[in-house]
Amino acid sequence: APFPIKLSGPVIKGFGRGSKELGIPTANIPPEGLATYPDLPSGVYYGYVGLSLSPSPDTTSTSIEIHPAVLSIGYNPFYKNTVRSVEIHILHEFTHDFYGAALNLLVLGYIRPEYDYVSLEALVDDIKIDCDVARRSLDRETYARYKEDGEWKAWL
Ligand code: ADP
Ligand code: MG
Repeated sequence: APFPIKLSGPVIKGFGRGSKELGIPTANIPPEGLATYPDLPSGVYYGYVGLSLSPSPDTTSTSIEIHPAVLSIGYNPFYKNTVRSVEIHILHEFTHDFYGAALNLLVLGYIRPEYDYVSLEALVDDIKIDCDVARRSLDRETYARYKEDGEWKAWL
């Protein structure tokens, strides 16, 4: 895939599948941007998120928080497998929810396809491994530039 892939949108309500209760909340953004990448395989990816918690019309003064993230791109069974959803677990401890925040996502690499799990425990164990893979991949020198604001401000 042509990484980096850029997706963005406001953080919207997900399906309430209890991600937060499992300790892995996922910020959902509208899936429309995926239409640009119809051949992008479903699965688990890593990347960086730039989050504007208080979006301002004056983009020069908008402060952006940049964090590593793990995300899944996959078919949402609620929509008869025609619509894919984008769910992003940000590798950062937030003190508050941030529904409505402007989220910009740079998808930088693929981790694995999506599997069916026999138990919730097996799923959560795998996601923890994905988080490790994401952190260690994103520590690579080639990705250092994405940790700086400039790269993001140019995009916004
Ligand atoms: P929903 O079904 O509405 O997506 P989740 O249980 O997946 O609910 O929780 C997602 C929400 O939790 C996000 O929209 C965000 O406001 C909040 N949140 C808090 N910490 C994180 C985090 N580290 N990563 C992603 N979302 C987080
Ligand atoms: Mg979610």
